[in-house]
Amino acid sequence: MPEGDTIFRISQNLGRYLLQKSVTKVQLRSLPYASEILLGKVIVDVTSIGKNLFILFEGDVILRSHSKMLGSWHLYSPGVAWKRSARHAVAVIEAGDVVAVAFDVPVLQLSKGVERTLGTFRSQLGSDLIRDELNLDLATSRFRQFAGDALVGEALLDQRIVSGIGNIYRCETLFKAKISPYRSASSIAVEELGEILEIARSDLSFNARENPGVKRVFDSEVEGTFVYGRGGLPCHFCGTSIVRRIMGAPSERVPRPIFYCPVCQV
Ligand SMILES: [Zn+2]
Repeated sequence: MPEGDTIFRISQNLGRYLLQKSVTKVQLRSLPYASEILLGKVIVDVTSIGKNLFILFEGDVILRSHSKMLGSWHLYSPGVAWKRSARHAVAVIEAGDVVAVAFDVPVLQLSKGVERTLGTFRSQLGSDLIRDELNLDLATSRFRQFAGDALVGEALLDQRIVSGIGNIYRCETLFKAKISPYRSASSIAVEELGEILEIARSDLSFNARENPGVKRVFDSEVEGTFVYGRGGLPCHFCGTSIVRRIMGAPSERVPRPIFYCPVCQV
């Protein structure tokens, strides 16, 4: 599943190539009436909130996409072969010399009313860790409200608390904070939550805005991840084998693997 930094980068890229251009061709598989609405309209902004991507069109029209587990957006020049089969293309938006294609994106919603739509998502979701200032009081109150007695490893995936953290960041953040994903959310002190969120914010922001490479960076000395994807390999700090277990968010049907060091994280 794309994390907040991936969606932020996609929004920046789409914005760079689509902004102020008129839609010359459009096909949204689940919304056949979209071409009538969007054809000829100028794209006025592309933004994101957490893992939600928004394309704004003139006439107060907004398209929301959520990539869930498998979705992705690509940019092409017209006529250039796509890297994925057209069977998987659920949205094609051509604007001048650029074609934006969404592959396997399961959520596409077209709405009238840009501010109302964005306002709804801003109120439903916690602060965006890349775009917003971290308001610890607000994040703490949402953490207490929504996490309940869930495990902290589950709670970090709950986008109502803060938005942008996916599976990789929950694993890496808890490792760096030296906190076990199996601690109950209710046992996490405000100072610990502040440290967790500051680590996540810092790494997400760096990888979204500053990292020039294609691979995420979590530490200047350590290549790759500390724990994510390293089940059975030795911990960089203590040498203990990294553990891989399944842990989803309470609201999710698809459980996802959690990676952690059973010695460093308590
Ligand atoms: Zn360790």
